[in-house]
Amino acid sequence: MSELKVAIAGAGGRMGAANIRAVVAANGTRLHAALSGISVHAAFDRPDSEAIGKDAGLYAGLEPLGVIITDNVEAALAGADAIIDFTAPAASVALSQRAAQAGLVHIVGTTGCSPEEDLAIRRSAEAGARIVKAGNFSLGVNLLQGLVRQAAQILGEDFDIEIIEMHHNRKVDAPSGTALMLGQAAAKGRGIDLDDHAVRGRDGITGPRRKGDIGFAALRGGTVVGDHTVILAGEAERIELTHRAENRTIFANGAVRAALWAAGQPPGLYDMADVLGLKG
Ligand code: NAD
Repeated sequence: MSELKVAIAGAGGRMGAANIRAVVAANGTRLHAALSGISVHAAFDRPDSEAIGKDAGLYAGLEPLGVIITDNVEAALAGADAIIDFTAPAASVALSQRAAQAGLVHIVGTTGCSPEEDLAIRRSAEAGARIVKAGNFSLGVNLLQGLVRQAAQILGEDFDIEIIEMHHNRKVDAPSGTALMLGQAAAKGRGIDLDDHAVRGRDGITGPRRKGDIGFAALRGGTVVGDHTVILAGEAERIELTHRAENRTIFANGAVRAALWAAGQPPGLYDMADVLGLKG
């Protein structure tokens, strides 16, 4: 029995702090059978982060952990078993390459990756990293994905699908990773390719809606953690499937669960449906 030693990437960020709290909270709860514990082994961020030099526990609103947030990635990863990474696409690609070299678990929550960046992360998984990448680590959204797929399949093209999301005013990418996940689920249910049918924002004289399109609308404001609604609009009826995230704990707890699960898996690229056993 050993302990899973986690390095928190982007420790100075909103999700970084939530991930520190989630790892601390998970220690002492029922863990993976082969593990005796989980701990914050290291925490790191960019050199310009205000968190550098601070104690990770104190920074996350807890008791001191004796782990100082560093900008030295090399030192942070030395001796770590896993990285929990909610940062930025380029950082996540680079970390996946380090994870491949050292055979680490790499939990990637970062959204907004380009197809090339996604491919680079896939290559790292093929080269030895145990990667779980998901646009949303909450149980609720991963369940919602299955419901959306089922609804899209049953209702067919007569129901227009629109996906609305709202997030806080600091979010940098749109549509959200979760909205795209839900769009993929709808496209899968219909047996179509999302890239051929996605309409990401409308403006001006757009003409009538093309049958079979999947529309996205992104709202930004305030401190909203993440709201997503999938609308299936038919002739005289409308179905709305909504998930509202009330705080970041749900993502951080999911990330910890994914790290514990991935520790027992062979190298590869997984998603949250694998972790939750929702594939079938
Ligand atoms: P944030 O801006 O508060 O935090 C990001 C942190 O990453 C910052 O502290 C930044 O300095 C750090 N960072 C950036 N580049 C780095 C590098 N090269 N090395 C080390 N640290 C680096 O943002 P946030 O709200 O915490 O979100 C972070 C990411 O997680 C975004 O992509 C967001 O969309 C995503 N997110 C995903 C989920 C999910 O469930 N998958 C949930 C919430 C947020």
